[in-house]
Amino acid sequence: MSTLRFHALKESLGREPEAITESQKRSELFGVNVFNESTMRQSLTKDAFKSVKAAVEKGAKIDRGIADQIAAAMKDWAISKGTTHYTHWFQPLTGATAEKHDAFFELTPDGQAIEKFGGGQLVQQEPDASSFPSGGIRNTFEARGYTAWDPSSPAFIYGTTLCIPTVFVAYTGEALDYKTPLLRALQSVDQAAVAVARYFDKNVKKVNASLGWEQEYFLIDSLLTASRPDLVMAGRTLLGHSPAKGQQLDDHYFGSIPRRALSFMRDLEHECMLLGIPIKTRHNEVAPNQFEVAPIYDEANLAVDHNSLIMDVMDKVGQRHHFKVLFHEKPFAGVNGSGKHNNWSLTTDTGVNLLSPGKTPMSNLQFLTFFVNTIKAVSDYEELLRASIASASNDYRLGANEAPPAIISVFIGEQLSNVLENLEGVTKGKLSPEEKTDLKLNVVGKIPEILLDNTDRNRTSPFAFTGNKFEFRAVGSSANCANPMTVLNTIVANQLISFKKEVDALIDKKDMKKDDAIFNVLRELIKKSKHILFEGNGYSEEWKKEAKKRGLSNNETTPEALKVKISDKTISLFEELGVMNAVEVKARYEIELEEYTLRLQIESRVLGDIARNHIIPTAVRYQNVLIENVGGLKSIFGSDFKKHAQEQIELIQDISAKVAAINSGVTKMINARKKANTIHGIDKKAQAYCNTVKPFFEEIRYHCDKLEMLVDDEIWPLTKYRELLFTR
Ligand code: ADP
Ligand code: MG
Repeated sequence: MSTLRFHALKESLGREPEAITESQKRSELFGVNVFNESTMRQSLTKDAFKSVKAAVEKGAKIDRGIADQIAAAMKDWAISKGTTHYTHWFQPLTGATAEKHDAFFELTPDGQAIEKFGGGQLVQQEPDASSFPSGGIRNTFEARGYTAWDPSSPAFIYGTTLCIPTVFVAYTGEALDYKTPLLRALQSVDQAAVAVARYFDKNVKKVNASLGWEQEYFLIDSLLTASRPDLVMAGRTLLGHSPAKGQQLDDHYFGSIPRRALSFMRDLEHECMLLGIPIKTRHNEVAPNQFEVAPIYDEANLAVDHNSLIMDVMDKVGQRHHFKVLFHEKPFAGVNGSGKHNNWSLTTDTGVNLLSPGKTPMSNLQFLTFFVNTIKAVSDYEELLRASIASASNDYRLGANEAPPAIISVFIGEQLSNVLENLEGVTKGKLSPEEKTDLKLNVVGKIPEILLDNTDRNRTSPFAFTGNKFEFRAVGSSANCANPMTVLNTIVANQLISFKKEVDALIDKKDMKKDDAIFNVLRELIKKSKHILFEGNGYSEEWKKEAKKRGLSNNETTPEALKVKISDKTISLFEELGVMNAVEVKARYEIELEEYTLRLQIESRVLGDIARNHIIPTAVRYQNVLIENVGGLKSIFGSDFKKHAQEQIELIQDISAKVAAINSGVTKMINARKKANTIHGIDKKAQAYCNTVKPFFEEIRYHCDKLEMLVDDEIWPLTKYRELLFTR
């Protein structure tokens, strides 16, 4: 082992877990640093409190006078907790969160120091945001954007800063962030779902989309990652031979959590409690040093914010524990990648989960209605759903070992499949009393029992029904959930609107009873969307063929996958539902392609750099040792030396061949990059990166990894997979 590697490893192995003292019960800590409903109730006047509630529940505007009151209460609360600054906290399209800290401290005209924070600062801010990506929106319309408070996500204190969740929009109103379209999509699914839920219960006034995410990640000692330029710059290893022992033994999954990792988790959970993030589970994942954290599910907008926040908190807590937290979807080749399952359901203000069957046939019909409509929405927009999770990093994971493929299908289990089959056989038109009774008793009525013992689970499905929710599993671990959540809620809203129209038409024009009409429309929906249902092994080659026959998309790369985002069908969907206009849609498309291209560009540069500055020199050094050895053998054995030096000579030749292959691979890759960089039009450029630059990654890596196996371990400069993954 090289001295550098040895010292890094020695230091990381010598680390003790950081001591964590937990003096208080979790429940006492929960939400202590959040300006939540109970804090507001205590610190706001009745009018101000009502106004915030109306803003949260109905999207009502908060008037300026009230905003001043809220700001004053928020400031007093924050200062009493030792806060000195405030920031508008938002999610620009870069994927990370952004903050601009301002001090409460201000000087009055006569030079006196005061703490100031008014309604103006709460409701509207102009960040100096010219460097956030906007896909041309800001340039075309107005030079600046502004941030505005999102009262549906409560303010919180992080460190000594009061963070106010905000949207980020251009002066012309176009969204420059992830949150704005998400809020619009949630509003539209709320309206559409309320209208349908009222067929079953007239008291329903609001439907919330819920999200429960499961965040996977790797923990690697920070000193070890610091020794790898690829992990530092690209968040993943660009080379490295797989270790003799991988995850084959499955001994990490649900095994006991390593001590240092456990101490990190406890610290993280403590921070999460204070921030009101309801963390519930922690466990090991499939790969060595891979873990998962998941909260109790929450209203989708809040859950999205919590996920963005926790990724930031994990990073900071990781630093305290000398860990680098890897969020990349595929940090190690040949090892399980990381995802972020998005568990999704719809809940009414009467406390009913619309994706969970109830006690009466009517409530089960309601369940079936939402269940079938969701399936239909996914079948109509499978390609858009795939696009919503497309990124350079997720491309390495989808379809690789132990990850869903790039084909979107829906898994519902054998028993629910039977239910749908029965429904498909329902008579067209009005149902006879006998048929209806039979349906209600023997099909709809049996659903709760079916689901009770629905142990049927298919881990290979990208979109699976799991008892009382759908689980979108293709989302990448580094993604912002807002993107897939915006699409899912929009397509379901769209489908529910059309369902309502069809049912109403049958009731009005065909004089049908409500439940007859519902059965009739559901039957047609099932017929039209069956092809999206798949119960088999999603990882198999046969599925790819079968999916093609069924006409399902299989867009394996991001540039391919994103195309559908700017199709007429997509744009009119978003426009009709008021989620995004054409300008916003196209801007996002461009930003995502730009981001894709940049990521590949970085990876390509780092790989070229490592190959030429680390790998080739090391290989040559070792080759020189061999050459010296051969020279020595010659001086001892004279003309007979070949008998003794044959293996060494072959090694020398082998190394030369690999060095040559790496060097020419890098040259060709650089040329391909140069050519790609001259291309105008971000779509063509991204395609060029995908099809002409990226293929060299594997080729160059292949030879580097072979050299890792040949060259003396003593001089190998890069921390090896076995050291990264199996030390703790
Ligand atoms: P698994 O790892 O088997 O997929 P977990 O129990 O780890 O399942 O995660 C389930 C996730 O689903 C949790 O984050 C949980 O909060 C969430 N969840 C449970 N019920 C719902 C629901 N009705 N709507 C949305 N999310 C839910
Ligand atoms: Mg899951």
